[in-house]
Amino acid sequence: MARIREDASEISLDPDNWDEMRRLAHGMVDDAIARLQGLRDGPVWQPMPAATRQGFEGPPPAKGTPLDAVYADVTGTLYPYAMGNIHPRFWGWYMGAGCLTGALADFLAGVDGTNLGGGDTGAAQVDLQVTDWLRQMMGFPEGASGILVNAGSMANIVGLTAARNAMAGVDLHQQSVADIAAPLRFYASDQVHNCHMKAMNLLGLGAKALVRVPTDDAFQMDMDALRKAIQADREAGLRPACVIATAGTTNTSSIDPVPEIADLCGEEGLWLHVDGCIGAMFAIAPESRHLVAGIDRADSLALDLHKGLQAPFDVGCALVRDRRIHRATFAEDAEYLQVATRGLAAAEFLHDYGPETSRGFRALKVWMMLRQFGVETFGRMLDQTVAQARHLTSLVEKEPQLALMAPTVAAVVCFRHEPDGLDEAGLRAHNTEIMLRLQETGIAVISDTTLRGRHCLRVAICNHRTRSEDLDLLVAEVLRIGADLLQPA
Ligand SMILES: *Cc1c(COP(=O)(O)O)cnc(C)c1O
Repeated sequence: MARIREDASEISLDPDNWDEMRRLAHGMVDDAIARLQGLRDGPVWQPMPAATRQGFEGPPPAKGTPLDAVYADVTGTLYPYAMGNIHPRFWGWYMGAGCLTGALADFLAGVDGTNLGGGDTGAAQVDLQVTDWLRQMMGFPEGASGILVNAGSMANIVGLTAARNAMAGVDLHQQSVADIAAPLRFYASDQVHNCHMKAMNLLGLGAKALVRVPTDDAFQMDMDALRKAIQADREAGLRPACVIATAGTTNTSSIDPVPEIADLCGEEGLWLHVDGCIGAMFAIAPESRHLVAGIDRADSLALDLHKGLQAPFDVGCALVRDRRIHRATFAEDAEYLQVATRGLAAAEFLHDYGPETSRGFRALKVWMMLRQFGVETFGRMLDQTVAQARHLTSLVEKEPQLALMAPTVAAVVCFRHEPDGLDEAGLRAHNTEIMLRLQETGIAVISDTTLRGRHCLRVAICNHRTRSEDLDLLVAEVLRIGADLLQPA
């Protein structure tokens, strides 16, 4: 190969001194490992002081700063104020705690730099293999397609877009939603995640297109109400298109009756989309997989891998049973994007299966983690979160001042402190204060919600670092703070 003349007058972002860069990079890895090793001893979260916050104001830097000084700001002013979801006592919302292998993979993916929009590359093989592994883990048939996306919301949008296009009766690449003969209707329970409302908006269908079906005492979709809603819409001249079943709701982790919904979709000729962001991954967990039986019958399934698999943020996946429909939904022709028979472009375009064109190499973290730990380890880890939720539930049930607010299905526990003499508004204020003090003292991060008008604390266990004793501590602290709040000032 011809040698290219080194010319210091031309700019490159590579380091001038590779040895110095190597030392700095190794130091970053050492610090990251020390940070993870010491997590348990620090606060879960702490608020950023106003003075530190002010450091983020000002114009963009016109001149450069040595990287070691920039990095010192990362450790000094960012690390202490992280969300805390990597901490063993983070149970706010349902998030995921990440892991070092995944973080190293993100670094390696960045160095590799491959754009996963398409192309004949090793990275594309990894991307395709990860979606195929996920297809098999979820029990989807061979030939079904999948696409890695940034997160669960986008995975749901991919599935709902395929549903809309499959059920529209017109070609939406040529025509618009206004050309659909009758307005489409999607059905989801009143516990549905709000990303589905966003999806209706983005899909041009509007909020009216999402029919909210009531849930029963266990927060599962009421099948009679669903049947009636579909019937009534047909009679009104609307076009029922899709049922969105939630396998693991955000509020309580309740799971809609997927097999019955799948039967109904079969009878009615409707698309079945399963939002499995919380629950689908339980399909690999020996003790819990019965909870999500039937999700393999979905026409499309949304998965969240930063939740169930503890991959660092962010990565999700949409699976679609009918590959032709999936591709026809997203593929658009362009002269500058032609599949070649030779060379780098001689490969299927992965961007034909989703809304993104350029795509990051987020597959690598999932691939490395699945290979290092194996599916069985993840299955046992997910079972462990359910067992921990049951442990917490039993602690709540034993404590006369605590009340369980919803059945514990998977890994979410809803409860509240219920001292005598407080009405509903008083209980809301009291429990909100308990939650905030837990957060502000760095003891634990939990969230709250309102179930049928009743406020409660919400503990979502999606964390491979949690130990049962952390939950013992949580209950003790809720009782301690609750009692403190009742002391006359
Ligand atoms: C988390 C979640 C989503 C959204 O996923 P993101 O990864 O946050 O985009 C959608 N549906 C359910 C049920 C979820 O729990």
